[in-house]
Amino acid sequence: MEQVNKILRTEYLETDFLIIGGGTAGCYAALTFSEQSCGRILITDKADIRRSGCLAAGVNAINAYIVPGKTPQDYVDYARNDAQGIVRGDLLLTMAERLNRTAQKLEGLGLTILKDEQGGYTIRGNRNIKINGENIKPILADAVSKKPGITVMNRVNVFEYLVKDNRIQGAYAVSIDEPVLYVLTAKAVLCATGGAAGLYRPNHPGFSRHKMWYPPFNTGAGYAMGILSGAEMTTLEMRFIALRCKDTIAPTGTLAQGVGAKQINSLGEIYEQKYGLTTSQRLHGTVTENREGRGPCTLRTMGITAEQDEDLQKAYLNMAPSQTLRWLESGETPRIKNVEIEGTEPYIVGGHTASGYWVDTNRETTIKGLFAAGDVAGGCPQKYVTGAFAEGEIAANAAISYISQEAALPDAGQVREKKLWLEQFLSQEKASVTTDELEEKMQSVMDQYAGGIGSDYRFSEDSLRIADGKVQEIQRQANALSASDMQELVYILELRERLILCRSVIAHLAARRETRWHSFAENTDYPDISSEMECYVNSRLENGNLKILIRPLVGEGEAYEH
Ligand SMILES: Cc1cc2nc3c(=O)[nH]c(=O)nc-3n(C[C@H](O)[C@H](O)[C@H](O)COP(=O)(O)OP(=O)(O)OC[C@H]3O[C@@H](n4cnc5c(N)ncnc54)[C@H](O)[C@@H]3O)c2cc1C
Repeated sequence: MEQVNKILRTEYLETDFLIIGGGTAGCYAALTFSEQSCGRILITDKADIRRSGCLAAGVNAINAYIVPGKTPQDYVDYARNDAQGIVRGDLLLTMAERLNRTAQKLEGLGLTILKDEQGGYTIRGNRNIKINGENIKPILADAVSKKPGITVMNRVNVFEYLVKDNRIQGAYAVSIDEPVLYVLTAKAVLCATGGAAGLYRPNHPGFSRHKMWYPPFNTGAGYAMGILSGAEMTTLEMRFIALRCKDTIAPTGTLAQGVGAKQINSLGEIYEQKYGLTTSQRLHGTVTENREGRGPCTLRTMGITAEQDEDLQKAYLNMAPSQTLRWLESGETPRIKNVEIEGTEPYIVGGHTASGYWVDTNRETTIKGLFAAGDVAGGCPQKYVTGAFAEGEIAANAAISYISQEAALPDAGQVREKKLWLEQFLSQEKASVTTDELEEKMQSVMDQYAGGIGSDYRFSEDSLRIADGKVQEIQRQANALSASDMQELVYILELRERLILCRSVIAHLAARRETRWHSFAENTDYPDISSEMECYVNSRLENGNLKILIRPLVGEGEAYEH
């Protein structure tokens, strides 16, 4: 690694289509663009695209697929129902129509999709197909590396957009290894940085804090950059909280669906019917049973057959090995002991819920020429891997049509200012607090006052007001942080983007004056669902103030365009 000095070198790079985040949506968008245009593509990723983002460790199913007998409209209806109406049907439909094609394309690139005896894909449940997906990310990255028009820059962290007159010009980034500030100019830009983890105190704070469900390195950069540049955001209040096996954070779906394990409380009562079966209802039931003294809650696996027991151990060895290791280590396999469950900390993930950029059906944001796809894009929940591909494809096609003008260079004074701002962190005296300490402080504020695990995911108007004040105070303290190398500088930038996003999440939670999704947004001042809140809660930063915009729902069969 190059010796870090306190002065950054500025490098200017120009491209046609800049893709920020070479994850699921980003890689697929690059492939689509390169197949239909001879324009230059630049992918920048803070990690290495061979093993970055949600697909880093592999996945074992395609969760969004139109199985035989079902239609894309069925998928829209399912997602709308699960989100209690607060979705964009137009986005869901344009995504659902592409799900199967994208799965087939990945199969063509080398992904193993399991087959049944008739040669069709092996179906799991109503919307899933089974894959051997441990290498899904290297397969995607390989395909990208074979395209001559695509340049990949790994370990380059993008932190701010270049926007002029509400039109995208490119983005600023820093190298994680060298003292370089990149000024990336482009004719069109795709934001595909995934969702945000690490806003809330996690299940395992301290040394193990990165043992979480969502990738800890998806820190919400895309949301924060959009917020700062005045892009409109939607439904950030619809947080996602997963119901997991206690301690290992292993998924629970395989126990519930695979062997029909029911959720039971410490009295042995099945409580799941009492609360409902959507993700948020299953979670809410568990939280409530615990609160009311009937915990710990478990999935009833005792009594399953020896064969089922072994199958479960194998299944978990494949997708969450720590769970199998725990069973083997303790000797208490699932047929001997029920599996205790708990909720994770809240995440902001537009691939599971509807939070993210407010986009039109082309996945263009409210900033011209800036597109968003995957977990960072809002309005379209339950998109998962194939939905992220589909949105990457839509955005890439739209970017091809959009590109007409030359990439514009930013103002030299503006670049100098950005460079000085970064250099200040590298040169200022060590502050009395560290980035880690402020991150922990932020997480504990969010936990306590903005509905984290510690407050049973509940909050009130008062507690949110306190949270916002404390987050602002941390923002002030963060200005004094110091970094001794580029990696530490990136940690400061990550904290900064999380803090920006926290404030928006708090504002959205406060603006939805109802409780529509238990636990995901549990407002103790408004404990019931309200017909007045049949709308989108959107927001936009205007003159430094976050403005809440209430938008009417886009009706069935309608489409929203900017
Ligand atoms: C643990 C886990 C298991 C899952 N299992 C399944 C499953 O079995 N089936 C299924 O269909 N779906 C599954 N999903 C969901 C699915 O994987 C995601 O919805 C989808 O991959 C999201 O794609 P994305 O492109 O939005 O984000 P990602 O694929 O995460 O891509 C984001 C990329 O942006 C990069 N990045 C972030 N910030 C910056 C920055 N500042 N500068 C530059 N680069 C940046 C990251 O390094 C990353 O490469 C799972 C998700 C998780 C977290």
